[in-house]
Amino acid sequence: MDLTGLPAISTPLPWHEGEWSQLNQQLEAGKLPHALLLVGRQYTGKAQLAMALSRLLLCAHPKEMRNCGQCHACELSATGGHGDFLWVTPGEKSRVIKIDQVRDVVRFTAKTAGFGLRKVIVLAPAETMNVNAFNALLKSLEEPASDTYLILVCDHMYGVPATIRSRCHIRHLPTPDPAISLEWLDMTTGQRERSRELLALADDLPLLARELYCNDGVEELAGRRLALEGLIDGRITVHQARALLGELELPTFLERLTADLQRLLGSLSVGQLRSKQGHLVFKLLDEIVRLRRAVNAGSNPSKDLLVEALLSKIHRHLGADLLGDSIHARTGDPGK
Ligand SMILES: [Zn+2]
Repeated sequence: MDLTGLPAISTPLPWHEGEWSQLNQQLEAGKLPHALLLVGRQYTGKAQLAMALSRLLLCAHPKEMRNCGQCHACELSATGGHGDFLWVTPGEKSRVIKIDQVRDVVRFTAKTAGFGLRKVIVLAPAETMNVNAFNALLKSLEEPASDTYLILVCDHMYGVPATIRSRCHIRHLPTPDPAISLEWLDMTTGQRERSRELLALADDLPLLARELYCNDGVEELAGRRLALEGLIDGRITVHQARALLGELELPTFLERLTADLQRLLGSLSVGQLRSKQGHLVFKLLDEIVRLRRAVNAGSNPSKDLLVEALLSKIHRHLGADLLGDSIHARTGDPGK
């Protein structure tokens, strides 16, 4: 999230209104937990919720569950320049939150709030921290200062160690209701039919749908889906899949493949998940998670060989009728 030039008042996205009013009730009752873990799918606006809450906590004169947009604290928080506010994300070239950044968090929690009100720290995405970074963060979670709020934002709980999870109040944010997402998307597209197409392509993830619309990403995503599904049911070869995927940087390729495989898992029945093929999808995901960690930590494997190897695995191991049927059922493709 770009911290410079935020609107005067930060509001959560419409599908988070329920969560938002619960958080506000907790805040009003003096019961807002000092460590929050917001969990939910990518592209659903978790960061925007964290931002709205941060700015509300920092505002000197909040009104009707919103920051006022006029006080000095609000002006500063709109530019990211508020001294009691720390928004921690991976650096520009890095894909991980580094231990040095976490050490800054620990130092920040130890000092007194400059405005005498509250300090707020957001870590997003939290699961990009490695074990050492999480361990460094533990200290801040074990001895929370009364004026300090720590908000961790993550897509996947499995990336966050149990020691951290157990010290946070966990809030699972559901995937937005498509009816609300469509209304919101209409404000960008101006056409319901277009909104509907984009939301379907984006698997009901409204922020992804908007990104596809704004960045002309429809073709790229459709090509990728075709590549993965074609590989699985044997319609296309590894070579053809590579052509459909285009030239992606290795971290981007791994990130998208993860998302696609997770999407595939989400479409399987319990029986399919327990089958040999289901097990293989999990195994492949584990492998990709490890690869992503290694690449993020600076390992530089041959991209060509790695992409080839992963696609071949999908082609050889996942190409059972079981998975093929599930894909056809989902896309309405009559299949073989
Ligand atoms: Zn204010």
